[in-house]
Amino acid sequence: FDLKNDDFTKLDELGQGNGGSVMKVQHVPTGTIMAKKVVLIDAKPAERKKILLELQIMHDCDSPYIISSYGAYLAEPNICICMEFMDKGSFDGIYKRIGAIDIKVVGKVAVAVLEGLRYLYDIHRIIHRDIKPSNILCNSNGDIKLCDFGVSGELINSIANTFVGTSIYMSPERIQGATYSVKSDIWSLGITLIELSVGQFPFSGSFDDDDDDDSDLPHVPEHEESPPPQNHRDSLQVPLSAATKRRNRRRSKGVSLHGGPMMMSIIELMHQIVNEPSPRLPTGKFGAEAEAFVDGCLEKDVDKRRTPGQLFDYAWILSSRQNGVDMKAWAATF
Ligand code: ADP
Ligand code: MG
Repeated sequence: FDLKNDDFTKLDELGQGNGGSVMKVQHVPTGTIMAKKVVLIDAKPAERKKILLELQIMHDCDSPYIISSYGAYLAEPNICICMEFMDKGSFDGIYKRIGAIDIKVVGKVAVAVLEGLRYLYDIHRIIHRDIKPSNILCNSNGDIKLCDFGVSGELINSIANTFVGTSIYMSPERIQGATYSVKSDIWSLGITLIELSVGQFPFSGSFDDDDDDDSDLPHVPEHEESPPPQNHRDSLQVPLSAATKRRNRRRSKGVSLHGGPMMMSIIELMHQIVNEPSPRLPTGKFGAEAEAFVDGCLEKDVDKRRTPGQLFDYAWILSSRQNGVDMKAWAATF
């Protein structure tokens, strides 16, 4: 594919994260439907070249558990990454639509993520670095695939947003500044599995259901092509308890990134991740096998935390591989 802006028609907005925005598009010359991610970057020509070169690794990925890529191109001041469109969206959207996800389906998610991580690491020596429900996608064939893995260090450096790389799925050792290892992805997987099976993000105690109450959030302007540089609406949005929201309203009028209530809650959350016991699946609700697996992922001590290789041998993974769930039929229910 020789990709350029003029050849695309926009069909839909798929969402925004703190690194960019994603659209459903049609590549007119070939008729192909794609997901196009637009990232505003701040990079010199040499750096831009390097980003494109590094993104080439995405193109070389060939696994049923990894989103395929059609290529990337520069459209100043943005970089556009064109990838396989997954028509059922990401697992955060799925559970918010249909509620907590059946543990057998969550088992299939665990298998797919482990397989995806193994492929990225064994074949390309890549650590994902951003495992979370919104980076695990599903299509109507029932396939589960990973997207947004860290292929390009140069891209990460160039994204015009201070908070790129900060995520509420971050492991305790990452928060404390340790270098990334594949075990940090395993922590994020554990948090993700609890969130999907329980139907809510496991930290921060009490939750409201008014997820759409943006009154505490900075106003995010609409942009045609360039995503707002400091949009951190999704990955840094911590679900606040009603009490915290009330306290925040009293505490501050304007909300700023640098010390407003949202920033406070992120710091509080990071503190919780480092200092509180790890979250667990509710005892007795989803079965001992699933509980043991999640506990293996959420060991706070990195040395004790399981590696992907060890997790493949867990009973829950073995039984999830053959649990008889028809993912295609499941994906047809929403
Ligand atoms: P985040 O992952 O933090 O939500 P992104 O900018 O990476 O932010 O993605 C925004 C949204 O776009 C995701 O939540 C996901 O639902 C959707 N999305 C991303 N890639 C695809 C894709 N290939 N197919 C369908 N939807 C996608
Ligand atoms: Mg993403």
